[in-house]
Amino acid sequence: MSIIVQKFGGSSVANVARIKMVAKRIVRAKKRGVKPVVVVSALGDTTDELEKLVSQITDEPDEREMDMLLSTGEQVSVALLAMAIHELGVGAVSFTGPQVGIITDRLHTKARILGINAARIHQALRRDKVVIVAGFQGRTESGEITTLGRGGSDLTAVALAQVLGATACEIYTDVDGIYTADPRIVRDARMIEQISYDEILEMAALGAKVMHARSVEVGKKFNVPIYVRNSAHNGKGTLITKESKKMEDVVVSGVALMEDEAKITIFSVPDKPGIAAKIFAKLAAGEVNIDMIIQNKTETNTTDISFTVYKKELRKALRVVKDAVSKLGVRRVVCDENISKVSIVGVGMRSHSGVAAKMFRCLARKQINIDMISTSEIKISCVVNGRKGKQAVRAIHKEFGLGTGKGQKGRA
Ligand code: ADP
Ligand code: ASP
Ligand code: MG
Repeated sequence: MSIIVQKFGGSSVANVARIKMVAKRIVRAKKRGVKPVVVVSALGDTTDELEKLVSQITDEPDEREMDMLLSTGEQVSVALLAMAIHELGVGAVSFTGPQVGIITDRLHTKARILGINAARIHQALRRDKVVIVAGFQGRTESGEITTLGRGGSDLTAVALAQVLGATACEIYTDVDGIYTADPRIVRDARMIEQISYDEILEMAALGAKVMHARSVEVGKKFNVPIYVRNSAHNGKGTLITKESKKMEDVVVSGVALMEDEAKITIFSVPDKPGIAAKIFAKLAAGEVNIDMIIQNKTETNTTDISFTVYKKELRKALRVVKDAVSKLGVRRVVCDENISKVSIVGVGMRSHSGVAAKMFRCLARKQINIDMISTSEIKISCVVNGRKGKQAVRAIHKEFGLGTGKGQKGRA
């Protein structure tokens, strides 16, 4: 009998009625003859609400305590879902991440999975139970509770699918699949039937939160077939799989928007070897994630360095930067939280030219100024004013003809 991993996101278990619906779906799968291993997120917006409580107490919470708190959300949903399955007359048992041996490193709030000892899951499956695992959490070797970063239940699901040799990993959410852009921003966005690991990896890293980026990385590494589907319907959804020849014909597959980043600029940094190395080494030591970096030489033999960080890590980043440059004669360190990053992604970009020019022209026509640019083989990103992000996404989506052609008139 084959194992299938099914993951249900927060909106799919937002209330009791939905938990009961999810329970029925799982029981149907079990009756079809597969062994479901289920991963669940916290109910609805629980994790956001827990974060809000924290923000009323401190701006820089202790990260160990943060994990202690955030991991409670998923513990509630697994137990409720197990009970709902019991009510349907089927055996089910819930576990926390630590209980099923999800071992992580010690990087609290963004821990990486080091390994999973699945013995307890296999034992429960042998007893014919539906196994329900709390997403987004694990423990360090010394027993501390960790979380895997926001959206991390996807990672729990894909990692479990790999370790258990599941035939597939099904990610159930509140949209029908992966679209050419967030369907909440672009009304005529089109659902994509098949997408390559690399494309959705870029889209996820660039803000399309329908999938957690690291979960796609694991899926790609171990070739786990991942389906993204709506928990409220029975649609086919999107299959994330290896790149095929056909995918290369599509130049741009999707547009993504990131509104979670802020920009830091350091003015008048001495233009000498080793300075950037020193600043960014300090940021790395402080475990601050850096995204785009731009350096501009000025006329006075100094350089201005701009880079983006997650808004969540802005305070920490500013503290580290100010400390790192305190003896360098730097003129000013400023930050801008009002930025958006708009990106286009597509494996077809490798073999097509003129894509960047088309994107920049489209933004120019809309009078949207580009602040920073970064490119890779399969993506182009532009940082724009925070208030213009959504407008830019709609305009670019239209420019590249990605929509269904319905319901978009005059919105861009
Ligand atoms: P879950 O709680 O199920 O994990 P998320 O909120 O994390 O759900 O992810 C689903 C959301 O991702 C959708 O509601 C949608 O607004 C957003 N999203 C962003 N980009 C895309 C995209 N390209 N395709 C589909 N959904 C997207
Ligand atoms: N509950 C966590 C979050 O909201 C993990 C997840 O939903 O995947 O980020
Ligand atoms: Mg999610």
